[in-house]
Amino acid sequence: MSFIVAIDGPAGAGKGTITKLVGEKLGLVNIDTGATFRCVALNMLQEHIDIQEEEKIEKMLNNINIEMHTDGKIFLNGEDVTHRIRENDVNGLVSPVSTLPVVRNKLLEVQRNIAKGKNVIMEGRDIGTVVFPNADVKIYLDAAAEERARRRVLQNQEKGIESSYEEVLKGIKDRDKRDSTREIAPLKKAEDAMYVDSTNLSIEQVVNQIVKIIENNKK
Ligand code: C5P
Repeated sequence: MSFIVAIDGPAGAGKGTITKLVGEKLGLVNIDTGATFRCVALNMLQEHIDIQEEEKIEKMLNNINIEMHTDGKIFLNGEDVTHRIRENDVNGLVSPVSTLPVVRNKLLEVQRNIAKGKNVIMEGRDIGTVVFPNADVKIYLDAAAEERARRRVLQNQEKGIESSYEEVLKGIKDRDKRDSTREIAPLKKAEDAMYVDSTNLSIEQVVNQIVKIIENNKK
């Protein structure tokens, strides 16, 4: 039996930072499902596969190997792509790629397998609605788009990636729209998810709030 915490929400709401910290506090394995979609997008860029070329994408997915190490490193077909998958070309492609049924089906299987038999905190867009509809705890983490863009720019700076606020804000709004209006597994709050708005909260406050929610739900 595994214990599953699902954290969904839009880009830049703080899911990455928060899941990592909450996972460490409560001894849960942290799984970033966005990284799996990013790996697929990067693999398409590497192999010069266009989004319309469904057969080629299917073939690529049959051979894809995505590994998530406990130190947070992500490997795509044996190569460390931890930083590469956060660059702009991947940011631009990942959302359209994540609307493809063939990609979602493959990654659904990958994500469920990664969690098997473990106590996990899994972050994404459709974890509480599609991947684990019976998750023990569901949280929808949100924040205003402007605040999310501000955080992303800072995060990029720390990683040495240059980005302009306007560009990042536009990217976030475009992605929000695409993620929440797509036909398959759109971004939306599960009916039974707890809503947490992090716009005016510090990281510590959000972590404490979520830890409390999880502890209240532990049987
Ligand atoms: O969380 P992150 O920004 O890394 O996710 C990248 C993209 O992957 C999202 O914009 C979304 O299009 C897609 N995604 C998804 N379902 C998930 C996680 C991510 O569609 N569970």
